[in-house]
Amino acid sequence: MNKSNAYSEDKFSFKCPVCEEGILEIFHHVHDLPDGDKMLIIKFECNHCNFHKNDIIPLTTNVEAGIMTLRISCPEDLKSKIYRSPTGKLEIPELGLLVEPGPKSDFYITNVEGILERFKEAVLIFLKDMPPNDPEREKIVKILEDLDKALEGNLNFTVILTDSEGGSYILPVNASTYSFQKIDKK
Ligand SMILES: [Zn+2]
Repeated sequence: MNKSNAYSEDKFSFKCPVCEEGILEIFHHVHDLPDGDKMLIIKFECNHCNFHKNDIIPLTTNVEAGIMTLRISCPEDLKSKIYRSPTGKLEIPELGLLVEPGPKSDFYITNVEGILERFKEAVLIFLKDMPPNDPEREKIVKILEDLDKALEGNLNFTVILTDSEGGSYILPVNASTYSFQKIDKK
């Protein structure tokens, strides 16, 4: 399965770090945002196993401070990309998820599904350490059930990304699910 003839100048490849057999193809393209900004979208894809990964890198710095809201109501919406800068606060009120901004916060490039997966991992670890008779247990199990529903696209919810400095981004799969409210930088 040699696809090297199909490579254009924009594509280059590496050995897959997961299966170590396939070739990791790296595609990139520049996406123009409605506000005139540009983002670089990088896609890694193994031609042998299922390994794949998407990254987003903002190419312009004139990013406005604001509140970005994304409505999730179908499985396709989970693919919307999110770039949270260290000053961005990420919330999913329906699931009780909050990622606070702060100097220790890592840059965070993922999609909605990736956020849910990370959150689920944290909840599972928390549940594992909980005594079986803990009265809070039921609440945590309910959160897990809601997370699974959300991951299957069977739960409507809202992703709110607030960035008082500017720099965070949401790149929606469907533009009609996204809204932006500008806030003044202090
Ligand atoms: Zn692979």
